[in-house]
Amino acid sequence: MLIRILFIIVLIGAVLLLLKRSRNPTDQDGQEQDDSEQMVPCEHCAIHVPQSEAIKEGEHYFCSEIHVKLSKQDPREP
Ligand SMILES: [Zn+2]
Repeated sequence: MLIRILFIIVLIGAVLLLLKRSRNPTDQDGQEQDDSEQMVPCEHCAIHVPQSEAIKEGEHYFCSEIHVKLSKQDPREP
């Protein structure tokens, strides 16, 4: 007898769970992360940095202000 009641309770619980799911479909679609930011190489050290973070100097990109200055100071000195 008790087992029967338990079975019915479990059954009702399962049905309720299914109803809840069908009413609230998980909104996990359309979460396309746009990680396709263009990477540009630093003209001084050749490290790649995101274009938004890079410092543009003329036609060249730099990873930091220091490298902008360094490239201006000595253009290829050993
Ligand atoms: Zn650099």
